[in-house]
Amino acid sequence: MEVKFNKPYIAGNELEYIHDAMHRKTSGDGYYTKQVTKLIEDTFHVHKAFLTTSCTSALEMACLLLGIKDGDEVIMPSFTFPSTANAVLLRGGKCVFADIDHTFNLDLNDVKRKITSKTKAVIVVHYASASCDMDELMALASKYDFYVIEDAAQAVNATYKDKYLGTIGDIGCFSFHETKNYSCGEGGALLINKKQHHLIKQAEIIREKGTNRADFNRGNAEFYTWVSIGSSYLPSELLSAHLLAQLEQIEEINQLRKERFEYYKQKLKKFSDDGMLKIPHITRHNHINYHMFYVILNSKNERNELMKFLQENQVDAYFHYVPLHQSPQNRKLNSHIETLKMTEDIVDRQLRLPLYPSLSLKEIDYVVSLMEDYLNNRNKK
Ligand SMILES: *Cc1c(COP(=O)(O)O)cnc(C)c1O
Repeated sequence: MEVKFNKPYIAGNELEYIHDAMHRKTSGDGYYTKQVTKLIEDTFHVHKAFLTTSCTSALEMACLLLGIKDGDEVIMPSFTFPSTANAVLLRGGKCVFADIDHTFNLDLNDVKRKITSKTKAVIVVHYASASCDMDELMALASKYDFYVIEDAAQAVNATYKDKYLGTIGDIGCFSFHETKNYSCGEGGALLINKKQHHLIKQAEIIREKGTNRADFNRGNAEFYTWVSIGSSYLPSELLSAHLLAQLEQIEEINQLRKERFEYYKQKLKKFSDDGMLKIPHITRHNHINYHMFYVILNSKNERNELMKFLQENQVDAYFHYVPLHQSPQNRKLNSHIETLKMTEDIVDRQLRLPLYPSLSLKEIDYVVSLMEDYLNNRNKK
């Protein structure tokens, strides 16, 4: 049996909507982009959403919008995808990497130690769709006067104290990449969470190559022209059409992922009770979207051996990330690399298992039986 790591979900209406979009208009901000934007705003109670070509571009837009510039410090976890950091570097800002805690989300005690007068923002990453204590982070933000950007790439449709992740900080960023829960291949969204008219206006301009095209289209400008720095961050209607079909089935997709997540949990409980591995720990404040299932082994060696054993048996299992503070790019920028204990430890012992809506329970049984083989044989040695 071969078990792939990820398979894209097919909702069913994608081709019909894409076909329809081809007859309407294929560039951005047409019928389908409007439908998806409204669906996102209504479903997640977002003040204003903008579809983008990726979460990466949403993060870049966020840093442009908040005016991150040379000399500004932005605190973020080291345990994240490079896009979180690139957005800051591209504006000339400085990435300050903080550690994570046992939930794999930002360790707010480490964040507190790293706040300085130059701290302009904190980018919080909602790892595996859980979060840190957002109430505490928002309290720190008002006390020390910095922005909060949520990298909610993995956290679409997940909540903290019944508020949707991505809608709590100043700006939220979603991903609709193929590997995420709801997808159009490559896509994302920028969420503006406060009634800040100037930010919304500026986001429209930045996203449309620095022009006032949105105003022009509404009939509020005689012609459209270059009014500010910007880029092209809007997706084609074909992608929006694809995404609409997916988001129309948001609950069905969530349910399928949940069943598989819970099945892993139930099957692996005996190993976790025996202390052979750990399974995800979710705080009572978080409702996750079942984006990811991972286990934490007791040592790096065990993790590497188990990963190899699974791969030899045609099961795709991986770990991530290479911590950003230890990356070649960060070494180019900083001669002194500090130790981030939890991050370095988790990266050594984590193993992610296949999880997607079409994964069968039989396939999960196979993955778990291989894990059982490995763990039992190991214990005999
Ligand atoms: C996937 C991911 C991204 C990048 O998303 P894209 O839509 O592929 O640009 C950024 N941050 C995190 C935490 C992610 O998991």
